[in-house]
Amino acid sequence: MSDNEYDAIIIGAGVIGGAVAYELARRGQRTLSLDKGPGAGYGSTSASSAVIRFSYSTETGVAAAWDGLHYWKNWADYLGAEDENGFAKLVQCGMALLIEGEQGHHNRVMPIWDRLGVPYEYWDRATLGDKAPNFDLNLYGPPARSTDEEFWSDSHGEMVGALFSPDAGYVDDPQLAAHNLQRAAEAQGGEFRFRTEVVGIDQAGGRVSGVTLSDGTTVSASVVVNVGGPHSSHINKFAGVYDAMNIKTQSIRHETYHVPGPPDMDFTADGFAVADDDSGIYFRPQPGNNILVGTTDPPCDPKIAVGPDAELGELTSDGWDTNTLRINKRMPTLGVPLPHDKKGVVDRYDKSDDWIPIYDRTDLDGFYVAIGTSGNQFKNAGVAGHLMAELIEAVEGGHDHDAEPLQVTARYTGLNLDLATFSRNREINADSSMTVHG
Ligand SMILES: Cc1cc2nc3c(=O)[nH]c(=O)nc-3n(C[C@H](O)[C@H](O)[C@H](O)COP(=O)(O)OP(=O)(O)OC[C@H]3O[C@@H](n4cnc5c(N)ncnc54)[C@H](O)[C@@H]3O)c2cc1C
Repeated sequence: MSDNEYDAIIIGAGVIGGAVAYELARRGQRTLSLDKGPGAGYGSTSASSAVIRFSYSTETGVAAAWDGLHYWKNWADYLGAEDENGFAKLVQCGMALLIEGEQGHHNRVMPIWDRLGVPYEYWDRATLGDKAPNFDLNLYGPPARSTDEEFWSDSHGEMVGALFSPDAGYVDDPQLAAHNLQRAAEAQGGEFRFRTEVVGIDQAGGRVSGVTLSDGTTVSASVVVNVGGPHSSHINKFAGVYDAMNIKTQSIRHETYHVPGPPDMDFTADGFAVADDDSGIYFRPQPGNNILVGTTDPPCDPKIAVGPDAELGELTSDGWDTNTLRINKRMPTLGVPLPHDKKGVVDRYDKSDDWIPIYDRTDLDGFYVAIGTSGNQFKNAGVAGHLMAELIEAVEGGHDHDAEPLQVTARYTGLNLDLATFSRNREINADSSMTVHG
């Protein structure tokens, strides 16, 4: 094999791209990761809220997230290589999924948790009140924008309780996690080139033969994996596979907000993460008694498509006001942060049509995709790497994945991951909540 020839080229060195590279490299493949950014994890990974939770509405979604936790719990062992910058850390503060009424998201989640053995506590209203004494447990939803009249309506009922996952939490440094994966892949012989943009997918004899870079040079490989995050549809278009996919991906502008914690408690030390569909937000502790607030993307929130390289601008006043007022309604002791204190991040989701990722082959032999991560797949990085490597090995070995979707055994829990859930050719999954809790 020449210096410019690899078994697999991975486009993108975010947390998912890094995991795909590591999993292929540890299986003995000669990998090359290409990223147009300056280092690992500078794409949407850097903006991730990195919430680790298991409240998905499909069985494979829950199984993947639950297995995904175990990668983070065993992070240094899993990587098997040092990183001069240290390791990203899992903080298990727990997460409460608030129950608004009998028809809420918990109804989908709870039976799956029971079947798969995901631990949780059912908190009734009194218990939730004890655990979160500074919460207002009245119902105000469905979520609205603070500029809408309904936002200011009186409450119309009382919260039923919560499902609490003691194992849930967040990873403290998502960009470092991607760097950790780079070092782990390198320790297995994987190579990385940064500030290197892929502009073409080369083909010969009806299958992938490598990539063309923006400086006009080419690199050969019989497998190429698109893990380009919000650039995924752009890359699929120049590979010529976009039109044939039933599920599409799109780059969507997304904001998250950082607000000071309540004065009556240390939220970093004693708080837990919360998914609040009644308000349309999720939130979690941040170091320094701060709170990270994200929107769950309820129907009233704008879904703004932006080109993957377009300027994103600053946090919007409308987004800041709406979401800080939403959390203030739930935790009135917070006090509404002032407009000139706007803090947070603006980035992009690579959103799929049903908010479920696409981990699949494509109609072009040798060209694979790990895309459409829709603001909720950081937690699954290790799992995504594992199942992409299993998929690539199986398909390159002759398995007809489209006819018989691969079933992958999850590394830590032994649960079954049915890859039909992540197919590019699925119908929009009607079980998807179409919202995100991080
Ligand atoms: C604001 C926000 C909050 C989130 N919160 C959570 C959360 O709480 N929990 C959770 O589980 N998930 C969350 N996510 C989702 C999670 O962060 C992403 O799913 C994950 O980081 C995606 O990783 P990736 O490697 O696929 O993509 P990225 O990190 O976007 O990496 C893609 C890389 O591809 C490179 N690239 C693109 N095109 C090319 C090209 N042509 N040539 C070379 N390189 C290219 C880019 O430079 C980039 O580095 C959130 C995401 C965002 C944006």
